[in-house]
Amino acid sequence: MFFIYTIIFAVVTFLFIKNVAYPYAIDRYFKSEEFLAIKESISQHVQDCNDLNQHIQNLKLSYADIESFDYGKGQLSDTSRYNMKRKNWSESTNNRWTHPCSLSIVKNANDQPFKYLCKYFNIKPTEETLEKFENALNDFSAAEQGKGLLVQERDDTIASVMESIPPFVLRSSEDRIKQELGFMLVSLSQLYFPVYTFQYVSAGGNSSSRFDFRLDLEQLERFIGYLAELVKFENSVAGQRALMTAKLRERIKVRDNFTCQICSLSTSDEKNLLLEIDHIVPLSKGGKSTEYNLQVLCWRCNRSKGAKIDQTPSLTHDQVVNKIPNQKLQHVLLCHQNCHKVRLFLLLSHLNRNLSRLYKSRH
Ligand SMILES: [Zn+2]
Repeated sequence: MFFIYTIIFAVVTFLFIKNVAYPYAIDRYFKSEEFLAIKESISQHVQDCNDLNQHIQNLKLSYADIESFDYGKGQLSDTSRYNMKRKNWSESTNNRWTHPCSLSIVKNANDQPFKYLCKYFNIKPTEETLEKFENALNDFSAAEQGKGLLVQERDDTIASVMESIPPFVLRSSEDRIKQELGFMLVSLSQLYFPVYTFQYVSAGGNSSSRFDFRLDLEQLERFIGYLAELVKFENSVAGQRALMTAKLRERIKVRDNFTCQICSLSTSDEKNLLLEIDHIVPLSKGGKSTEYNLQVLCWRCNRSKGAKIDQTPSLTHDQVVNKIPNQKLQHVLLCHQNCHKVRLFLLLSHLNRNLSRLYKSRH
């Protein structure tokens, strides 16, 4: 009898420690001054990680700009007299990423995805479409790379304080520790790549077949190449336009020595620095994906540049020129009133780059 009581006592004690005392001690530790001091010591890193995380989330939304065909939405009801199980009908989705079609289209789409994507998702091979997909590719690849760097930076930061955290706390879940240190949850899902679906459901609803086409980095790059072939360029200048391929992005990084062209920070200064490829003259303002119009920016500068362009009201030629500190240059620009806006913009960007470099070298 005594033996049974001992066992019950041991079990109750164990459950008490596991479910009450241990969580209580953990909670207390996370509120203790000791832990708050650790948290404070890495708060700058944590903030930086969270900013990068937010930046990556925004990059992921890139495809939201890519329009695909809106089929509209209605209600489908099965009004047949016999109670057949039409489970495939209810599974059939009808949204902007899904095209309901015949079985032969599903099969053909599988053979020639790009062709059918354009045809059935209303993707027109135009310069404009091409640029949208290029932008998406650029953003996705930055997001992909950013994810890796973010995780590394976060793990490095956590590792730097691991020794200060008592072992009994380390036994609680890893996510909890990250959360208590102030890290935002990192979403590592790949779901943000658009997936186009060709779906067939038989009239009876009992048989169905579908082809999912995910535009991941590799497919997106190939698709852009396909679109580019289709786009008939109106003049030779547009025809020489380089495509924003992985190779070109890598070449720009090597050319710019893995250094941000605004703040001059490089991957040798900060090993987990996310570098992005920026269009000096934005695509939306007529800039092209050519080597001359591309530069390396760190994600922080790229983000603030994007925000500035959105906020800047368009100035007149004179207003812009009057802002230039160099009088000679002012004169030259005023004498060339009719020169193309793009040229002026390029000049200003280069000026801006050189000024910030100069500023940095002097301070
Ligand atoms: Zn920078």
